[in-house]
Amino acid sequence: GNRSSQNSTSGALISVSRAFSSSTTPIKATLFPGDGIGPEIAESVKQVFTAADVAIEWDEHYVSTEVDPRTNSFLTWESLQSVLDNKVGLKGPMATPIGKGHRSLNLTLRKELNLYANVRPCYSLPGYKTRYDDVDLVTIRENTEGEYSGLEHQVVKGVVESIKIITRKASMRVAEYAFLYAKTHGRKKVSAIHKANIMQKTDGLFLKCCDEVAEKYPEIEYEKVVIDNCCMMLVKNPALFDVLVMPNLYGDIISDLCAGLVGGLGLTPSCNIGEDGIALAEAVHGSAPDIAGKNLANPTALLLSGVMMLRHLKLNNQAEQIHSAIINTIAEGKYRTADLGGNSTTTEFTKAIIDHL
Ligand code: NAD
Repeated sequence: GNRSSQNSTSGALISVSRAFSSSTTPIKATLFPGDGIGPEIAESVKQVFTAADVAIEWDEHYVSTEVDPRTNSFLTWESLQSVLDNKVGLKGPMATPIGKGHRSLNLTLRKELNLYANVRPCYSLPGYKTRYDDVDLVTIRENTEGEYSGLEHQVVKGVVESIKIITRKASMRVAEYAFLYAKTHGRKKVSAIHKANIMQKTDGLFLKCCDEVAEKYPEIEYEKVVIDNCCMMLVKNPALFDVLVMPNLYGDIISDLCAGLVGGLGLTPSCNIGEDGIALAEAVHGSAPDIAGKNLANPTALLLSGVMMLRHLKLNNQAEQIHSAIINTIAEGKYRTADLGGNSTTTEFTKAIIDHL
């Protein structure tokens, strides 16, 4: 059924060991405006947070124009250090540079900060009509291995291989996170998504880890769904799902499918969870080069990622206030960006959200 009353808590994250003071001393958070539409939508977040009096001091880091040899990527060592120190941050999209000899920015962040789980809540926005009004699910994607291990070779001319790595350690970690998330957020069911009938070793191990963790949570319903069948079921009746946990590549694909169910990539937030309580929130979408610099981007996904960050910091009142302002602005329908069928610019839409605070 429709659980939209729970929507506002969908993005909340499991609390971490670090205690955050509720005083007005600003909390330092790293901000990566990122590439493409990134700076435009990051500006929107900064304006809305300032208008809502959020006690956050942004520690802003831009992608460098040169490869930093200490990270072997365009992301500097200082930028990584900033997230490690602050333990919390918000990241705009980063374009994957085309070229060889250095790592992708996103891969560098995931590997170096050990961001092992990517939590992607996806729910119908009240007031924005799509085919379904009862989507309320959370995709939890393994974020460090699988097909994204970066191990690719040419075997002989005309034959190449990409190696899919699955480890017990990473699978247990993400499965534990998914069940704990379900438990702490009052969710009823965890579905493990796989293709273990074909990928017997890799997905087989992933499933075995999910099975093991599921036994520790008898109160949470547990099922295994083959990825192709999962896609069909999601399109036919998304309300069948609650929390979904899966290896890296499947998570990448399924979460875009889920975004499509509720109105597109302009709307879906995420948060990367790392060891030592690190939380780095980011939109699901990329740098959207086709609309970059045109004041057309929808800042909602990054704003809702910022809301996830605020909930992680236990700044729940301001998280609610900003969340409601976004929902109400979209529902009112007067100001919407082009991806939602409107004709507002990023700045007009941002101003409308601020007026709804
Ligand atoms: P994309 O998500 O950037 O864009 C896909 C489509 O969705 C485009 O038509 C775009 O205009 C639209 N779109 C995306 N976000 C939007 C928003 N906020 N408002 C309105 N429309 C929006 O995917 P892509 O084009 O495949 O990738 C572009 C670049 O981004 C690539 O370099 C890719 O590697 C990178 N990327 C980065 C991340 C990340 O940083 N996490 C994620 C995905 C892709």
